[in-house]
Amino acid sequence: MLDKPVSRPNDLSAYWMPFTANRQFKRAPRMITGADGMHYVTDDGRKVLDGIAGLWCVNAGHNRPRIVEAIQTQAATLDYAPAFQMAHPKAFELASRLTALSPEGLDHVFFTNSGSESVETALKMALAYHRAKGDGGRFRLIGRERGYHGVNFGGISVGGIVANRKMFGTLLTGVDHMRHTHDLSRNAFTRGEPEHGIELADDLLRIAQLHDPSTIAAVIVEPVAGSAGVLLPPKGYLKRLREICDEHGILLIFDEVITGYGRLGTNFGADYFGVTPDLMTTAKGLTNGTVPMGAVFASDKIHDAFMTGPDHMIEFFHGYTYSAHPLACAAALGTLDTYADEGLLTRGAELADYWADAIHSLRDLPHVIDTRNLGLIGAVELEPIAGQPTKRAFSAFLSAYHDHDLLIRTTGDIIAFSPPLIIGKEHIDQIVDRMTKVLTALD
Ligand code: PMP
Repeated sequence: MLDKPVSRPNDLSAYWMPFTANRQFKRAPRMITGADGMHYVTDDGRKVLDGIAGLWCVNAGHNRPRIVEAIQTQAATLDYAPAFQMAHPKAFELASRLTALSPEGLDHVFFTNSGSESVETALKMALAYHRAKGDGGRFRLIGRERGYHGVNFGGISVGGIVANRKMFGTLLTGVDHMRHTHDLSRNAFTRGEPEHGIELADDLLRIAQLHDPSTIAAVIVEPVAGSAGVLLPPKGYLKRLREICDEHGILLIFDEVITGYGRLGTNFGADYFGVTPDLMTTAKGLTNGTVPMGAVFASDKIHDAFMTGPDHMIEFFHGYTYSAHPLACAAALGTLDTYADEGLLTRGAELADYWADAIHSLRDLPHVIDTRNLGLIGAVELEPIAGQPTKRAFSAFLSAYHDHDLLIRTTGDIIAFSPPLIIGKEHIDQIVDRMTKVLTALD
């Protein structure tokens, strides 16, 4: 059979782009052809300042030598190894390195290939854990409105972003949602953690009582919700969730796909907030975005349930062809070396004040209804145009990229910032300067 003719380069009918309105993209294509440090390079030769670490993942900046070399060497040594009943040394090395970084008590790590897969893995671990303990009546999963937990069925079921759910019909059953914590009527223009809203954690109690607490397997939250637009936990909120979970035998899952690996100036969000979950999902910064990989951290309690549980539960019947992929393990080890050499996991703490001042300096610009920050995350929320939600922020995104050489990210009317942790004060100043121009010129 003859091959079909190759379509023209950049023909948008061949590449069905993820999370993209292809028609809109066609009007203003955004092509990236190279990257280095804090910048992307475009097909027309511009240097674009990366204000969002790719997609919240390139924490050590772009094209870092130790990571590049680790991947190259690994590819030429062991390209692939099966992960079921087999292993390769770098998987063990990485697991040990990671559990040395993770919060006390989260000392077992399961490898996946993405944030979405980490979420599915953690949800399944939670359900299987209760069965291993002879408590299989705990089958309900609790998420939160506006939560983002990736795109697989478990993740969109516990997730609370309506657009990501409504195209797909019946999702997982036995799922309920707490309210989100974003409340500009009480917390607008807060520096750091919002003062008001700890009582929203009691939604978990209310939902548990509604269904009978002995039916609840786990609750999953992002310590700081990122993809839904930087929604911060009110002071004491996460601690209160932990207390309710402890009182009622519910597992607490932190989705740290964004907050892991230095984003808040600590190894993980759990460290920042001083709250240890039972399961913690990660990805993104684990390999600095270079090779797809995720990791789920499990507590001793969960791990032990499989080690000491009934015979039919000695194995967790779950895993991926590419779990602990050698290239990903090498990339992660090179990434951890880079973080350690350059002190990047705590850099967010060192820069936190400068960063907070920078983000809040945008507060008086036109249409700005909130500025907020935590660690090296920031957000500017814009007043929506009546009947055209998302339009204003999306125009800001296009203008930043095309006219001001700055990459940002938007969700609805919220502009998010999450730069590589190698960022210097001069880059922070550039972000402020360019955003000031973008926002001043917006309709
Ligand atoms: N969970 C959270 C909190 C995330 O922010 C993301 C990605 N933005 C995911 C899960 C999904 O990760 P991935 O896109 O790697 O599947």
